[in-house]
Amino acid sequence: MPRIAVIPGDGIGLEVIREAVRVLEVVEARFAPGCELVHWDLGADRYLRDGITITDEEFASLADEHDAILLGALGDPRVPGNQHARDILLGLRFKLDLYVNYRPAVLFDPELSPLRDPGDIRLDVFRENTEGVYVNLGGTFKAGTRSEIAIQEDLNTWAGVERICRAAFEHAVARGRSRVTLVDKANAMPAAGKLWRRVFGEVAGEFPSIETDAMYVDAMAMDLVRRPSRYEVIVTGNLFGDILSDLAAELVGGLGTAASANLHPGRHALFEPVHGSAPDIAGQGLANPMGAIASVVLMLEYLGHDDAARAVDDALHAAVDSGVRTADMGGSANTEEVGTWIAARLSDASA
Ligand code: ATP
Repeated sequence: MPRIAVIPGDGIGLEVIREAVRVLEVVEARFAPGCELVHWDLGADRYLRDGITITDEEFASLADEHDAILLGALGDPRVPGNQHARDILLGLRFKLDLYVNYRPAVLFDPELSPLRDPGDIRLDVFRENTEGVYVNLGGTFKAGTRSEIAIQEDLNTWAGVERICRAAFEHAVARGRSRVTLVDKANAMPAAGKLWRRVFGEVAGEFPSIETDAMYVDAMAMDLVRRPSRYEVIVTGNLFGDILSDLAAELVGGLGTAASANLHPGRHALFEPVHGSAPDIAGQGLANPMGAIASVVLMLEYLGHDDAARAVDDALHAAVDSGVRTADMGGSANTEEVGTWIAARLSDASA
C-alpha cells in the first residue's frame, strides 16, 4: 500500500496541490491503488512560526516511511534568501540521493507552442541531479579585488554518469522510446566529455534495441528550436539538463503544465510541478494546476499504476482540448475549476 507524503509548501503550491489531491481522490475511488496520503506541514509558515525548516527525524521519516513525495512549491518573500526552501529541497535531493531529474515535455496543443510548426513534441529529459557544477566545489581567491579568481569545478564520477545513463536507457525501454541522445560539450570540456561518452557507450551496449546519438549542447539548443520532434530521450549533466529542460518546457507551452520527477529509482521519489511558488499570483485562483496534476501522472507511473496514470493523462488532455484552461494558457478558468473539471472527467470516464 503506497504511502505518499503530500507537501503543499508555499504560495501557489497550496492551490495546485489541492487540485492534485482532488484528482488522487478520484483515482482512489476508481482504481483503488490503496494510496495513503499523509499531509506534511513544511514551508514558510512553519519556519516563521517555529523557526524550524525540517528536522533530521522528518528527513528520516520521508525517506524510510513513505514510497513517494508529492511537493507543491517552496519559496516565500517573507523568508529572505528562502533558507527553508534550500534546506528542504536540497536536503531531500542530497539525503535521498535523488540522482535522476526526469522532465518530460509533451506538446498538448500546437497552439501552446511559441514555434510556428512544432510537430509532435514528446521529449523526456534525464538530467543528472547530484553532480556537475552544482556541487559548489571551488572557491574564490583575492575576492573583491580586480585580481579576483573564481573557480567552479565540474564534478563527474563514473558511478554518477553510469547510473543516470542507465536510468535513461531503462526508461526508453519501459516507455517504448527508440532513441537516447547524449548531450555534452566534449569538444570544449574533453575530460568530462570523454568519461560521459565512454560510459554512455558502455551502458548503450546493454540496450541493443535502443538507437543512440550524441550532440554538443550548443547544437542541441539550436536543434530543439528547429526540429524538437526529432528527439525522444535526452540524457545529460546537471547544468545542461537544467537549461535544456527549461527550453523544452517553453517549447510545449511554458511552466504551467510542466511536471518533474526527482528519483533514486527503486528507493526514493519526489514529484513536483516545475514552477515555483509564484508569489505574484498566489491566493488569487490564477495558478494553473496542470503541472501538479501531470506530476501525479508521473507518480502513478512510478508506483506501477499505469492504467490510472493513463486515465489522469487523458483527462488532462481533454481539459486542454475543451478549452478548460487558466489564464497562462489563454483561458478563463480558475485553479479550482480546472481541477474540478479534470476530476469530474476522470470520474465520468468510469461510468
Ligand atoms: P522559483 O525561483 O521558485 O522558480 P520564480 O519566480 O523564478 O520562482 P515561478 O514562481 O515559477 O518562478 O514563477 C515565474 C512566473 O511564472 C511568475 O510570473 C508566475 O506568476 C508564473 N507562473 C508560475 N507557475 C504558474 C502556474 N502554475 N500558473 C500560472 N502562472 C504561473
